[in-house]
Amino acid sequence: MGEIKRRLRCCTRGFSLVEVLAVIIILGILASIAIPAYLERIENAEKSVCESNRLEVQRLYKMELVLKSVETSDVLFAEFSSLNHDMYCPAGGKYTYLNAEVVCDIHSHDDVNDKPEDEVPWL
Ligand SMILES: [Zn+2]
Repeated sequence: MGEIKRRLRCCTRGFSLVEVLAVIIILGILASIAIPAYLERIENAEKSVCESNRLEVQRLYKMELVLKSVETSDVLFAEFSSLNHDMYCPAGGKYTYLNAEVVCDIHSHDDVNDKPEDEVPWL
């Protein structure tokens, strides 16, 4: 009986403070690497969806202008945008029609500063 109690006591001691601190430090390092990369992926996905939606809105709006045989105006584009609620910027940007292109007030400025596709990411 004494042997069993001694074995149970030896195996249920748990972790020492140094072991727990080492695990916490390792998890902190992994989180500091993973969280910014995750947020960057979300931002890139939102930018891609926004660009796709802008191109679709632009195509449909130009088609409507041709079908109605009218010139573009801010009022006409606002009316067109209000009727197409499913195509919007996922980051909450506002679309406007400028120089025959649909631009987003959040993502359209980033297109100029995009990195080239063949650049190796840091992670
Ligand atoms: Zn956008």
